[in-house]
Amino acid sequence: MFSEDKIKRLEAMDKAHIWHPFTQMKDWMESSPLIITEARDCFIKDIRGRWYLDGVSSLWVNTLGHRRKEINEAICKQLGKVAHTTLLGLANEASIELAGSLAALMDKSFAPFAGPEEKNKRLTRIFYSDNGSTAVEVGLKMAFQYWQHKGRKQKYLFVSLENGYHGDTLGAVSVGGVGIFHEAFKPLLFGTLKAPSPYCYRCGFGLEYPGCGMACTGPLEEFFRTRGDEIAALVLEPMVQAAGGMIFSPPGYLKKVRELCNKYGVLLIADEVATGFGRTGRMFACEHEGVIPDILCLSKGITGGYMPLAVTITNDEVYGAFLGEYEELKTFFHGHSYTGNPLACSAALAVLEIFGKEKIIESLAPKSGLMGERLEQISAYAGVGHAKSLGLMGRIELVADKSSRTPHPWAEKMGWKVALRALEKGLFIRPLGNVLVLMPPLSISTANLERMLDIVHGSICSVFDS
Ligand SMILES: *Cc1c(COP(=O)(O)O)cnc(C)c1O
Repeated sequence: MFSEDKIKRLEAMDKAHIWHPFTQMKDWMESSPLIITEARDCFIKDIRGRWYLDGVSSLWVNTLGHRRKEINEAICKQLGKVAHTTLLGLANEASIELAGSLAALMDKSFAPFAGPEEKNKRLTRIFYSDNGSTAVEVGLKMAFQYWQHKGRKQKYLFVSLENGYHGDTLGAVSVGGVGIFHEAFKPLLFGTLKAPSPYCYRCGFGLEYPGCGMACTGPLEEFFRTRGDEIAALVLEPMVQAAGGMIFSPPGYLKKVRELCNKYGVLLIADEVATGFGRTGRMFACEHEGVIPDILCLSKGITGGYMPLAVTITNDEVYGAFLGEYEELKTFFHGHSYTGNPLACSAALAVLEIFGKEKIIESLAPKSGLMGERLEQISAYAGVGHAKSLGLMGRIELVADKSSRTPHPWAEKMGWKVALRALEKGLFIRPLGNVLVLMPPLSISTANLERMLDIVHGSICSVFDS
């Protein structure tokens, strides 16, 4: 147990020195922060000994629960050998093993969708970095330089989507489309072509799915048709635009996008940093529609939420364009200090082993079903405009008026009010504006999943009835 003195000291030091991400520090200074000191399974414990259900998987990274014996042991075992050496000029055991396992996983997940003539579309090449933003930066630079090497120097534009989120470094922000996060940095960003978000509940065309003909793909095709010669790649989050508000694209959208990319010679960069590793009920979200991306970005769940690690995976077609004589300068000039970190790679290897051994993906269906049913019930509630899930990614959009779908004013902090109520009841969630995000660890038990949904339901009711 921590003494009151110790708690006070840590709290004061946090407030004196830590600048928290995506946080208005003025509010933070006036609050009493939860200081986490321990975790187990899908629960986190604060310094006062209170346990909370981790309803957002520690910001979408944790997949198999906290303190998994096998992952802890894998990291310890690697520590006994070497913590870190560079991939610039050297190779290391753990990163080689992981690259092999990931390549095999790519074949398992995507080979069923490849035609026999598409051998060079197999995702075989793993480029390491250490977070989701860098995975995307790497993907953008790869796509850009691929076309340069192919002698198509005018092909350097990127198409991205409204409400897309790809990280916080400037390249990733350039292809982002979340106004409140990205607007302030506009003068610093490179220009991109922004296509509409497939946000059916707030369709920009005023249409209803089904029967809309996916009008949102129209402007995308128009960009490709008129400027295809200038477009290097389309970057999107397949199936779910996560940080932009947990927006689920309608069935067929991703497949259609892939077809358009093929038709107009545009690379498809799939940012599965949030959706990868089982979150949507399949290992990768692209599998839902039988789509193979040209470049795949993965991070968050890759180590089960234990260590920072990311990969950008591509095919032999893209990789091959970078091969040449030394003096041709076709080298991919990109790298990070902690590229291929052995500790992180050993954690990821343990995670992949558990996914296989415990048939994690196969175990998700009943839990996904339960979450879907409960969210459908919750969507009937007066203050809820829309609630839906895919796999264990769920959204509840709170509205001021259900029939007109009028949002609560942003300053009303409606999402936060519900999250605060949930915290009092023992559940930690972090909303996105008026959207409650539910993303528990994949390993959550059915009983704890029910408990999470009960608390969410109860918190919404108590906020709206008070
Ligand atoms: C979180 C996220 C990122 C950024 O990852 P960081 O590790 O926070 O840099 C990129 N893309 C998507 C889809 C994400 O959800």
